[in-house]
Amino acid sequence: MSFFNKHNEDLGEQWRKKYLNLFDEQNKIERLHQEKEKLLRQFVIQLSILSEGHNKHLDPVLVHVRNHVKNELDPTALKLELKNFTESVKNVPKPKKTLNAGLLFDFLSKQHTESTQQTALRELQKSLESDANIIEQPTDLFVEILKIIETQPPPLEKVESENEEIIHIDVNIVSEQVLQYLAVLGIPEIFTEESKSIQEALLNPQQSTLAYEQILTNLVQFLLKVKEFNEAEQQDIDQFLLSITTQLSELNTLVTQADNSVTASVKHRNKLDQSVFTQIRELQTHAIKTASIDSLKEMVNTCFKTIATDIKTHYQEDKENQLQFQNHMSELVNKMIAMELESENLKAELKVVHTQASHDTLTGLPNRNSYNKRLKEEIARHNRYQTPLTLAIWDIDHFKNINDTYGHKSGDKVLTLTAKQLETNTRDTDFIARFGGEEFVMLLPNTNKDSALLLVNQLREVIEKTGFNANGMAVPITISCGVTEFMDGDTEDSLFERADKALYESKHQGRNRCSIL
Ligand code: GH3
Ligand code: MG
Ligand code: MG
Repeated sequence: MSFFNKHNEDLGEQWRKKYLNLFDEQNKIERLHQEKEKLLRQFVIQLSILSEGHNKHLDPVLVHVRNHVKNELDPTALKLELKNFTESVKNVPKPKKTLNAGLLFDFLSKQHTESTQQTALRELQKSLESDANIIEQPTDLFVEILKIIETQPPPLEKVESENEEIIHIDVNIVSEQVLQYLAVLGIPEIFTEESKSIQEALLNPQQSTLAYEQILTNLVQFLLKVKEFNEAEQQDIDQFLLSITTQLSELNTLVTQADNSVTASVKHRNKLDQSVFTQIRELQTHAIKTASIDSLKEMVNTCFKTIATDIKTHYQEDKENQLQFQNHMSELVNKMIAMELESENLKAELKVVHTQASHDTLTGLPNRNSYNKRLKEEIARHNRYQTPLTLAIWDIDHFKNINDTYGHKSGDKVLTLTAKQLETNTRDTDFIARFGGEEFVMLLPNTNKDSALLLVNQLREVIEKTGFNANGMAVPITISCGVTEFMDGDTEDSLFERADKALYESKHQGRNRCSIL
């Protein structure tokens, strides 16, 4: 005869169900935790991929973090990785730019003949060319120049009739140089209008209501403003990179806490297992020893009561644990969503900064800096694979006349149309940049100079047919080109000089033609 009566059987069944439910819930929590952990790992990996390529100093660290979290998420190791990442962000060096201001210094030394100014100018030019150069921005250079020339104004009023001619010629040179700077500088969009009016004043100083010196002073003030804006922008990005690392550390803390909740929960369940096991053992021992059915009944009741209380306590505590765990997890998920959003914004911001630094705002083409960079790469490729490499330099014909006859806006339109034609009528592997003013350069990999000549002549004809109307007048566009192929012993400069000579030949022979050298 079984000593478990009906009442005890019910109680046993009830207890069994509760215990199994508890197991199920426990398993569910663990599965949830594993999923969240996997999600977090994926997120850190995605974040590192997203940030890669923005700075070569950070890339190895990002790859390291990524590899580390690919297989497991060890909070201590992750913390160390994040610390290394923060250090690397702090140590990222600022990019160096080189400035070439030969023409500007020629002009200045003609205008400021006082011996201390001459010496100061020479020293400034020398330091600009030396390795120890600390001037990286055109704006800094202008500030330095202003310091030198403001110490003693040049005697402009003297010998008016004689100087007028010289000043007129030199003003053109300096305007051209300054316009090239503005093209290289990549003016942020909010300054476009201001930049345009300064360019217009520079292009037509005679028509401006301001004295030429005032135009230059305005230019310096303007460049200072741009510099401040760019610096503020850079600071924002630095700040954001730092805040990302802080947020990653916070995520890490949350994961550790969530981890602790699960560990506590598992420990607790083991305690319950232990308690139930002890009660059952006691029951078995008593069942063997006890003869009296009443004392056995009582024993069974006590055992079940103890088990029921244990389960109840466990259930309550576990519920609290679970709640805590869920809070940690939802905090974690919210943080991850916020970070994902922020990292998207950062990516967009970085893209804008990158585009501004490497592209010309008017035509959208890569600028002179990008050309210099690309030329190095193409020369390296040529040296490695011995494939031909051809350079073409383009210069719009009588562009000054176009500005003077149809206005500066029409001049700008000629530039954008020409850029568009050059870009759309060449292969994706060809590289086109606005070199400055109305000059464009084109790098043609895998192309020898004879095939290049066929291509540039076709392009020249396309541009000749690209007319447009300005106030009812047809604006003609023609362009000249100089072509040369990279030869053994060439440098970046010698290649450029030869193509420039070929361009000069085209101009000399009457323009709207292409020459090869
Ligand atoms: P050539 O046929 O010999 O090349 O004569 P050109 O008039 O084209 O050459 P020049 O170098 O005398 O004049 C180029 C002019 O281009 C001078 C400058 O005023 C103008 N320029 C430079 N940048 C810009 C720009 O961004 N927009 C406009 N509208 N004009 C520019
Ligand atoms: Mg030119
Ligand atoms: Mg020209």
